[in-house]
Amino acid sequence: MSMLKLENVETFYGNIKALNSVNIAIDEGEIITLIGANGAGKSTTLMSVCGIVHPKRGHVYFQDQDITHYEPEKIVSLGISQVPEGRRIFPQLTVLENLDMGAFLRKDKKNIKNDFDEIFTLFPRLAERRTQQGGTLSGGEQQMLAISRALVAKPKLLLLDEPSLGLAPIIVHQIFEIIARINRDNGTTIFLVEQNANMALKIAHRGYVLQNGVIKIHDTAKNLLANEEVRKAYLGV
Ligand code: ATP
Repeated sequence: MSMLKLENVETFYGNIKALNSVNIAIDEGEIITLIGANGAGKSTTLMSVCGIVHPKRGHVYFQDQDITHYEPEKIVSLGISQVPEGRRIFPQLTVLENLDMGAFLRKDKKNIKNDFDEIFTLFPRLAERRTQQGGTLSGGEQQMLAISRALVAKPKLLLLDEPSLGLAPIIVHQIFEIIARINRDNGTTIFLVEQNANMALKIAHRGYVLQNGVIKIHDTAKNLLANEEVRKAYLGV
């Protein structure tokens, strides 16, 4: 089944066209990465999916339902969670309180405790720090918390905006391993936006290359890793 489909999506900021006829299709269970330089329109693509900005033209379909003009809360309730760029957690709230915020829209409240335990198995460092304020965590731990908070909502589709940003390589490695595990173990479909194309393509099934708001190439991750143009422009080899 198609999990997410962007069809000729055009998103503007005033008169500036940030996305130009973007077409992306993601099947259930896939990890898809969108790579591109600074300002290419990667964040705008994710924001156009989760209702923070609305495309002026084209359509966004989630499991064949047209969500193009839905508001963010409605989109979350359908099963799409976003981990925004810059891991915006609540710094004054504890780890546990941050996770509670992610469970806000859950109807099956009695299962939440179990899910917290699962999350703490995935991220043991958060378990150790469960009563600590979010703002006192390291960058990597805050990213883990941001991902956990999104997972607590039990999304079918997880949107990740540059999870590697500003993190040390060893932490990036851990975060990407966990993203792959979430996909493998829970079957969660993942749409991963990254400037770190090398890492993203290593865990993704397929990828799209965005340049100035236009999709230039899409292919399997394996082919993109071997593609001369991609290697020169995005992999630094
Ligand atoms: P980055 O890696 O820096 O986040 P990106 O690929 O995610 O880049 P976007 O943030 O989606 O790119 O930006 C796409 C284009 O839209 C850029 O030219 C950017 O300057 C412009 N843009 C983004 N947000 C706004 C805004 N709120 N108002 C006006 N222009 C914007």
